[in-house]
Amino acid sequence: MIPFLDLKKINKPYETAFQEKLKSVLENGWYILGKEVEIFEKAFAEYCHYKYCIGVGNGFDALVLIFKGYIELGKLQKGDEIIVPANTYIASILAILQADLIPVLVEPKLETYNINPNLIQEKITPKTKAILAVHLYGQLAEMEKINEIAEKNNLIVVEDCAQSHGAKINKFQDQNSKFQPNGNLKSKINNLKSACAYSFYPGKNLGCLGDGAAITTNDSELAKVLFSLRNYGSEKKYHNEYIGVNSRLDELQAGFLNLKLPNLDADNEKRRAVAKRYLAAIKNDKITLPFWDFSTNHVFHLFVIRTENRENLQEYLTQNNIQTVIHYPIPPHQQKAFEEWNKLSFPITEKIHREVLSLPISPVLTESEVDFIIETINRF
Ligand SMILES: *Cc1c(COP(=O)(O)O)cnc(C)c1O
Repeated sequence: MIPFLDLKKINKPYETAFQEKLKSVLENGWYILGKEVEIFEKAFAEYCHYKYCIGVGNGFDALVLIFKGYIELGKLQKGDEIIVPANTYIASILAILQADLIPVLVEPKLETYNINPNLIQEKITPKTKAILAVHLYGQLAEMEKINEIAEKNNLIVVEDCAQSHGAKINKFQDQNSKFQPNGNLKSKINNLKSACAYSFYPGKNLGCLGDGAAITTNDSELAKVLFSLRNYGSEKKYHNEYIGVNSRLDELQAGFLNLKLPNLDADNEKRRAVAKRYLAAIKNDKITLPFWDFSTNHVFHLFVIRTENRENLQEYLTQNNIQTVIHYPIPPHQQKAFEEWNKLSFPITEKIHREVLSLPISPVLTESEVDFIIETINRF
């Protein structure tokens, strides 16, 4: 069986280094908010070309804390509306609700699976205060357009980067570029009102060995609040400035991430190489391949194809020892948890959830496995 994602194989090369890291953390005897977390926060901020990085417990908390941080700063208020793509992973929507804000769903583009910027303006009301852009499947949302709309309407932009570690907006990314790696326009004042949420859940492009996450931002006020909020709203021990939570990145997980971060770009390049092979060689009229402009704006967290015969295709691939996964089978507005939305209609979102199927893709997928997957799909 070709597994959908072979995490054991992904982490195998780090085995000795992980063991040494465990030993060093044990020897230090310091397990929460210590030097590994500090080193990682500095390294990840630098990697993302952001001033601040705040390590937190998981990707969901990263999003919730960003919203809570803006509420503490008076830039958001309970009951404000937040624009979010209708086809996102449920965590983005739950995080908005968790912060007592109101998600407003907007349809994605069928081609990119990312929010359609042309449909945002019509959803903006006086209560709209932010856009939560999601870089779904690893491909950057259209940040230039989104930032423009945000600027025009004085909205905060939050980015859900849980699937897009290392995605860069243009091919020739460098320090002097006016673009931030995660899609923000560096030159725009808007960037000051922006924050990004990452998850290091094991299956993400940068994954640890448990739960872990981080927030990046250039906003020093927000960063200060977030460093405090993640730790009971206290920066100085036993002095609580805010009603905070417990959501910290563990020393051990940060230690593992410090070992893996240097290989993130190379890993993403390997994912793109697999994607290139799939895009060039899969030829089947029944299947729609993902759109990609071959730039570094996509890190292929997932390689998502579409077909009207999804159940048949998945069954056929299983019989041929190829494991696939559906991301995601039920759109958020049709989930039982959101009964009040069940009557709403989002035709593009519904079509996506009906037709998508994710093929194996990872830095450790071998060429012969890729060949076999291509041949098998072409015979479907
Ligand atoms: C994984 C993911 C999250 C949540 O991250 P966790 O660390 O699992 O809480 C949020 N948004 C998106 C788009 C994700 O893929």
